[in-house]
Amino acid sequence: MAARQLTQEEMSKGYKVCPCGKYAHAFRASALDRLPKGYLGELCQECGLLMIAIDKLEESK
Ligand SMILES: [Zn+2]
Repeated sequence: MAARQLTQEEMSKGYKVCPCGKYAHAFRASALDRLPKGYLGELCQECGLLMIAIDKLEESK
C-alpha cells in the first residue's frame, strides 16, 4: 500500500480512512463541513492519532 498516494475516491470524498478502518483523516474543508457542530474528532486508539469517526463523515448525505 502506498502511504502517500490518495485514490480518486479518497480525493473526491475528501478524507482518507486510517489503517484500522474505523476512523478517517479529513483533508478537505468540504468533508469537515459535514461533521456535526462541535465535533472535533477523536483519538484513534489503534493509530494513536486524532481522527474523525467514519460514521460522522458519512452520516449526512
Ligand atoms: Zn486508526
